[in-house]
Amino acid sequence: MTAVVVLGSANLDLVYDVERIPAPGETVLSLGFGAFPGGKGNNQAVAAARAGADTRFITALGRDGSGDRLAREARDAGITLLDRRVDAPTGTAAIFVDRRGENSIVVDSGANAALTDLTGPEREAIGAADVLVLQLETPIGTVAEAVAVAKAAGTRVVLNAAPSGEVPHHVLDGVDVLVVNEHEAADLAGPGADPMAALTGRGCAVIITLGAEGALVGLPGETPVSVPSHKVDAVDTTGAGDTFVGALAAALDGTGLEALVAATGFATAAAAIAVQRKGAVPSIPTLEEVRAFRD
Ligand code: ADP
Repeated sequence: MTAVVVLGSANLDLVYDVERIPAPGETVLSLGFGAFPGGKGNNQAVAAARAGADTRFITALGRDGSGDRLAREARDAGITLLDRRVDAPTGTAAIFVDRRGENSIVVDSGANAALTDLTGPEREAIGAADVLVLQLETPIGTVAEAVAVAKAAGTRVVLNAAPSGEVPHHVLDGVDVLVVNEHEAADLAGPGADPMAALTGRGCAVIITLGAEGALVGLPGETPVSVPSHKVDAVDTTGAGDTFVGALAAALDGTGLEALVAATGFATAAAAIAVQRKGAVPSIPTLEEVRAFRD
């Protein structure tokens, strides 16, 4: 069983179905409402745990009902939670989804912004793990600190550079596997560059997810390998990227091309199941489901 530590955000997603997204100054009535666990860190931890990894999740929650709910549901998903409770509200995302499926989102980082350093037990957990998974919804100084701890201990580092943002050189230098979608790849690589060539040129393995097309796996100095996705009827792609990253981490037993391609094959199967179901966390499959799907 792979030991995975995810360090990242946990949010309560507040989803409003609306006829149309309100214009400035306008009030509209919601057609339906639901509150669901979210945040890239939380989703990826659930995906790793359901994919069979021994999963620890380092995150910051508020001392409020939302924090209690996120903690309870993370534990129910089989995650060992290394949470801290801070004097800020639990992170939220207000998501408006209109009739055409277009959305507008406002995220309040809340407690996630308070994850500004690592405690002793958190550093120990990172050092003891096989794989550390990071995203960019956590203060970058903490991401950098976690990378340094992982490097010193020989823990493999997977960075999902999402949402799009700057990744300082000293952080990228410690990353073993960079996972980005097409937009994030283009943003990180800069204008005019071939994203795969530019990003592998920074010295790490790179996986670019390509939606229904699957993923492209690249290593410095090697020809990229395309891993196709499975042909399925997608009903909701929310959380597809997070399912991919968590499942990849659970299946990652090396950083050579063969190990990366194998783990990517597993991750594309997990994500292909997730896109056939509604929601983020509820759509994430178990190891048994992924195995049955691949047979
Ligand atoms: P993100 O959700 O972060 O934008 P992608 O859209 O690239 O990321 O999707 C992540 C992964 O989910 C893809 O690499 C693929 O394996 C899977 N996926 C996404 N959309 C589909 C689809 N329509 N059919 C099958 N697999 C999909």
